Formats: sequence, C-alpha cells, structure tokens
Amino acid sequence: MAYSVHGPKAVSGGAGARLRRGEAFYLVEIVRGMAITMRHLLYNMFHSSTMPTLEYPDERPEHGPWLRGRHRLMKREDGSPRCVACQMCATICPADCISILAQDDDRPDVEKSPESFEINLLRCVYCGMCVEACPCDAIRMDTGIFELAADSREAFIVDREFLLNNTTDGVNR
Ligand code: SF4
Ligand code: SF4
Repeated sequence: MAYSVHGPKAVSGGAGARLRRGEAFYLVEIVRGMAITMRHLLYNMFHSSTMPTLEYPDERPEHGPWLRGRHRLMKREDGSPRCVACQMCATICPADCISILAQDDDRPDVEKSPESFEINLLRCVYCGMCVEACPCDAIRMDTGIFELAADSREAFIVDREFLLNNTTDGVNR
C-alpha cells in the first residue's frame, strides 16, 4: 500500500509508476543545478579578478557625469552662497525636503541670500528637479556622492555650511 494525493493506493503500475519516473527526473535536475552552482562557485573562487564585482568599499565604482549625487551649493568668488533664496527649488521639490530661510543682503547687487538652507536627505528622491529649477545655477548634484549612512535621523538633515563645502570628488566627508 502506498499514498498518493488522492489517498492510499497501490503504485505497482499505471499512474503510480509515472509519478516515480517524474520524481526521479526532478532529482536529476536538482543534482544538475547543484553541479552548475558548484562549477560557478569554484570558478569564481579562483578567477576573482574577472568577476564583474568590486571589493567595495576598497574599490569604488566609476559613475558617469549623469549620476545625481548628494547636493552642493555653489559659491561666489567671495565664498558666499550663489543662492538668492528665491525658493524655486523648495517650491518644485516633490518630496518637500528643502527648507530655506531668506535674509536681506547688504550687497548692492544681491537682494537676498539664504540665512539657512537645509535638505532632508531621508526624504529626497534624487529627482534633480531642484537643480533644474534654480535660475542661477546655485545648487548642483554633481558631487558623485551616493553613499548615505548615519547613526541618527538628524544627521541626514544637511545645512548650508555642509552643502557649501561638499566637493565633486565623490568622497563622503
Ligand atoms: S533632488 Fe528632488 S527630491 Fe531631492 S531635494 Fe531636489 S527636488 Fe527635492
Ligand atoms: S532655486 Fe537656486 S537660487 Fe533659488 S533658493 Fe533654490 S538654490 Fe537658491
């Protein structure tokens, strides 16, 4: 007596015999799959230099200029922000993650400047719309920085000084 999905039945022939052949075929496929896995495993162990993977973070990927990395604020020649606090970037941002506090500026050719400028990187979706909307090329996403790691939520809210001092070498400082 044997058991099938329909209950106990004899498997001396017919459907029972076909089931056993199917099971045997399935086992062969498992063994064949394991052999392929082991072949790749052993090959990769001894040919690691040909693998399309990187020893990150010791090896770092090269990105094209189209990568939208962490933002930076551009500076004028005197080191002050090029931003005129027009709020265009904050207005267009779909994630509502830019906060700007404007202040009157004493310089004759600058009406306003940002007293504070914050971006909440946890909310940002890296769409680049803030860069597109800026009328004076004051914000860019060309730092090459794609790594975001911190041990508190507050650390992801980057301020004006942080953004002014981001560089384009892709190094997360
Ligand atoms: S990249 Fe997009 S989501 Fe991020 S701050 Fe700019 S507009 Fe907002
Ligand atoms: S759009 Fe440009 S100039 Fe206007 S607030 Fe944003 S960064 Fe500053």
